Amino acid sequence: MPYPSTFPPLEIPSGIDLWTLLLGHTHRDFPVTKEILTCGETGRSYSWADLRSASIEFGKGLKALWEWKKGDVLAFYTPNSIDTPILTLGALWAGGIVSPANPLYTVDELAFQLSDSGARGLVTQPRNLPTAIAAAQKANLPLDRIILVGPRRDPSGRTRHFSSVRSTSYTASRHHHHVQARIADPQTDLAFLVYSSGTTGLPKGVGLTHHNMVANVLQASYVEGSQWRSRGGADGQGDSQLGVLPFFHIYGLTCGVLMSVYEGWRLVVLERFDLHKALAAIERYRITFAYVPPPIVLAFGKHPAVDGYDLSSLKVLHSGAAPLTRELTEAVWNRLHVPVKQGFGLSETSAVVCCQVVDEWGKFMGSVGKLMPNMEAKIVSEDGKEVVEGESGELWLKGPNVFPGYFKNPERTKEAFSSDGFFKTGDVFRRDKHGNFYCVDRLKELIKYNGYPVPPAELEGVLIGHKEVADACVIGIEDQANATEVPLAYVVLREGVDASDGKAQELTEWVASQVAPHKKLRGGIRFVDQVPKSPSGKVLRRVMREQAKKEQRA
Ligand code: ATP
Ligand code: MG
Repeated sequence: MPYPSTFPPLEIPSGIDLWTLLLGHTHRDFPVTKEILTCGETGRSYSWADLRSASIEFGKGLKALWEWKKGDVLAFYTPNSIDTPILTLGALWAGGIVSPANPLYTVDELAFQLSDSGARGLVTQPRNLPTAIAAAQKANLPLDRIILVGPRRDPSGRTRHFSSVRSTSYTASRHHHHVQARIADPQTDLAFLVYSSGTTGLPKGVGLTHHNMVANVLQASYVEGSQWRSRGGADGQGDSQLGVLPFFHIYGLTCGVLMSVYEGWRLVVLERFDLHKALAAIERYRITFAYVPPPIVLAFGKHPAVDGYDLSSLKVLHSGAAPLTRELTEAVWNRLHVPVKQGFGLSETSAVVCCQVVDEWGKFMGSVGKLMPNMEAKIVSEDGKEVVEGESGELWLKGPNVFPGYFKNPERTKEAFSSDGFFKTGDVFRRDKHGNFYCVDRLKELIKYNGYPVPPAELEGVLIGHKEVADACVIGIEDQANATEVPLAYVVLREGVDASDGKAQELTEWVASQVAPHKKLRGGIRFVDQVPKSPSGKVLRRVMREQAKKEQRA
């Protein structure tokens, strides 16, 4: 029998679109003049009411300018900014689909997303403009379909500034008390077309309906929002969160942008993660919580710069997107007295699947928490049968936040769902009798040593727990003589520690003393300057696997 959520079921309205959920009704639990989007560098802010009216103006502008239709895709190629949520919500208001791209993409990568999504417009910023233009040309998107955000305009005049799209709508009525978003069917119409992180291969286009997104905002609000609310904000100012996660990725999009608009939290936006800027923003804006990936938790736990700032406003950190170890959670607690609670999610589930309740963070450390309301989970073995409670297997999911399928890819979609309609996550999980879930690793990345599964994430966690280790990436390599795979670790040493003779040996032996015999680092240790990571904070083991193959051939 599938495990139902241990939370009571929520009522999730089926006929409401995302724009209407977030901005449709002006009666909120907070004053609508409250500032909810603040630029961490300049302090420039938008209130909830500003965001609402600006998004409608932008949506109207799109309709007037390009006869924007339901289902038209607006792509984004920008770092985080307080302006992009206006355009995102404006495009949704006008019935469009938003497809955000990684702002570090190359011409070819961006052109792929523009073509694959069939984008009819592209939002970018001046610094990204040359790449955006080249990609638009490649994807046959006319240059006047490029919209710039930020203070500067394009001197060549080939592209448009977003304020000019907004002002196109000024001729229309500016009183929008009863405006309805232009959505036909929240159950089938897509709101977002996000691309998965590409951790295991090429990024996949993941279509998320309005209903998927509405459900996940309400699910996360019930489990997460209530916890922050009950704890109150700093200095009576209400809660504010640090917006460092990339908004193009589902985690930053849902938990950062959408949750803030729904809950009325101030989101202090940073273009990208920079430790000093993040710490300074926490101090200056008395930030109460942040959703972050493990590399940022690592910085909070281990980086010397953290001691130079007043972080007393910080009440909780939430970690997701990649594995987090117990040691790191403890390191942050011992240093800052801030609980780190973990969550788990995927692009395919509109973000949040599981999260820890804040009062249980210390009790079930290492767990990714409990299943969101209205979800069902199965943990299955290779033959598709459910395993005994406590044993590991692949996590399968059902729920209102689970996507309908990969974009224009029925074959892949078919492979991703079981015959009884569960989405197969590709992640190995176990569940305890209290309903806590534990993420072991990705099914495809488990190393098989003589038939025994070795989760690289566990070995990375053990290594990062060593006082001389700053970071680690573990992969499986072929051991031809013994016809098996063995784990090899790429290790970044902490500043001031030398990769002296014997250091690799010493660390290998230390790991061996911490783990079961089949998990020893039989492939050895190699020292590197850094471990490749995606902007969403995931270790890119496939990059190191390719490097190892090259080294083996050489
Ligand atoms: P791709 O599917 O393109 O290879 P991806 O799976 O990394 O990339 P995302 O949808 O961004 O793309 O990430 C979802 C994955 O992130 C999950 O399947 C899981 O492997 C990992 N993940 C998320 N949260 C956690 C967590 N708390 N602990 C361990 N892994 C996590
Ligand atoms: Mg994936």
